[in-house]
Amino acid sequence: MIAQWVPVLFAFGANLGDRGETIREAQRELSETPGIEGFAASPLRETIALTTSGPDPDAPRYLNGVATASTMLSPHALLDRMQEIERDHGRVRDERWGDRTLDIDLLLFGGRAIRDERLQVPHPRAHERDFVLAPWLDLDPDAVLMGHGRVAELLARIGDTTSPFDENQARARDAAAGAVGSEHA
Ligand code: ATP
Ligand code: MG
Ligand code: MG
Repeated sequence: MIAQWVPVLFAFGANLGDRGETIREAQRELSETPGIEGFAASPLRETIALTTSGPDPDAPRYLNGVATASTMLSPHALLDRMQEIERDHGRVRDERWGDRTLDIDLLLFGGRAIRDERLQVPHPRAHERDFVLAPWLDLDPDAVLMGHGRVAELLARIGDTTSPFDENQARARDAAAGAVGSEHA
């Protein structure tokens, strides 16, 4: 059988630990997985944590991003790999929508609709999440979400509460804090 390469869309989120480093490392690991090619990641955006009781300004803020790729893995093999990477980065699942070091969700798997106990694709909440739509639009201004239409229009409808995140500035700030920290060590 000739391998079928399928376009996929991933979402990444983190609100504990070194959020940007974790997401970028997880993306590198995913992109280097055999059976995944052409990985392209969006800029990261920062948002207030969404919990089961709504937005929580007191919880640590999230960094979020999305990435596109092609895969010849099955949807469930891909989910296994995503969950392995989450675990490697210290992800624990206790409270629903609780704080986490890393979340990787599969938003789209080609044009397929999957509904089983492990996987729902297209992701059933992607269309109502600015932290998914805004970075996706950064990556692809013409993006279309299967079943919901143009991402630009969806985001305009729900409103965008995300802010751009300057990774270089964050790295420089961390490096400076590290240097000061070591002076006083
Ligand atoms: P949300 O799905 O609302 O973003 P979450 O990402 O916090 O919530 P998790 O705790 O990461 O939820 O995952 C719970 C379960 O969701 C996983 O065990 C996984 O099997 C299942 N799941 C269903 N559909 C998907 C999907 N499209 N991507 C990732 N996991 C999924
Ligand atoms: Mg999620
Ligand atoms: Mg998840």
